[in-house]
Amino acid sequence: MTPATDDASAPRVRDHGGGVHSLRVPIPDNPLGHTLVHLLDTGRGPVLVDTGWDDPTAWDALSAGLAACGTSVAEIHGIVITHHHPDHHGLSGRVREASGAWIAMHPADATVVRRTREAEPRLWLDYLAGKLERAGAPEAHIAPLRAAGGTGQLPGLRPAVPDREIVPGELLDLAGRRLRAVWTPGHTPGHTCLHLEETHPAGSPGNGRLFSGDHLLPGITPHIGLYEDPDDTTMTDPLGDYLDSLERVGRLAPAEVLPAHQHAFTGAAERVRELLAHHEQRLAGLLALLAEPLTPWQVAERMEWNRPWEQIPYGSRTIAVSEAESHLRRLVKLGRAEVTPGGEPARYVAV
Ligand SMILES: [Zn+2]
Ligand SMILES: [Zn+2]
Repeated sequence: MTPATDDASAPRVRDHGGGVHSLRVPIPDNPLGHTLVHLLDTGRGPVLVDTGWDDPTAWDALSAGLAACGTSVAEIHGIVITHHHPDHHGLSGRVREASGAWIAMHPADATVVRRTREAEPRLWLDYLAGKLERAGAPEAHIAPLRAAGGTGQLPGLRPAVPDREIVPGELLDLAGRRLRAVWTPGHTPGHTCLHLEETHPAGSPGNGRLFSGDHLLPGITPHIGLYEDPDDTTMTDPLGDYLDSLERVGRLAPAEVLPAHQHAFTGAAERVRELLAHHEQRLAGLLALLAEPLTPWQVAERMEWNRPWEQIPYGSRTIAVSEAESHLRRLVKLGRAEVTPGGEPARYVAV
């Protein structure tokens, strides 16, 4: 994602009306600043949409935010997770321990959670190193991964395994509320937006409200990379998934969007059009680059980012290459580019 500045003066808790609050939960040392955790009152107790980063500061902010809403962690009845990323799902396990709440997640992201828990850090690093090698990354970029893999010195992540599946298109089982799951793969394979099919409390025209997670944000383009599944050898097309998902939420035409970062906004359809145009432009720029065969790494070096390539830190370069590859795959799926024959690293060229 492109960094956004956090507005520290914004209130920690906001009442959106109709039994919906947002709580700003900080993400330490991250330009995103905070996750907006949403609290939805139901007939059987408060339900959280996402929980925030697993960190003592975030936990304190979540607890204080719930207190300001007149409730507490212990009273949470359920947790609905938009996607498995740690700034959304990090505190879920702790909230469940303190409250006995259930955790619901789309099965595709639940699979990622299980894989993350079971994966040996070394195997994961080997997978990543192999992938970067095939993308044409220079040895200097791959070497630190091999070194870390050799020592096995990477802490394993232990995200909470969800207890309920979110079924796309279905209403969640919430007393007195109509919250429908809208599967929006792209940012992750199981990313899900939640559509509150209720009249807007301020009477704004449009079709209810949408908890959009990272799928639709007012001023940031979410990262669309590969799905990073070592066991999956199929040519997934995350960018294609994302663009389809954008059109899906655009058609919903919600009166208001409640995203997981930045701030609530209106004009979902317009924002969708902007994002579709942004990616269309990106694909056109990429196609122009592919007049000569290029590896994904070379493509990433030449693509436009929020700063010059030389200034992009190490970890972000790995993410950038993944983003370049998702765009290359889209062009291949559209029949506008192809992989040149002749082994690794893969080289792409315009058709
Ligand atoms: Zn995310
Ligand atoms: Zn996020």
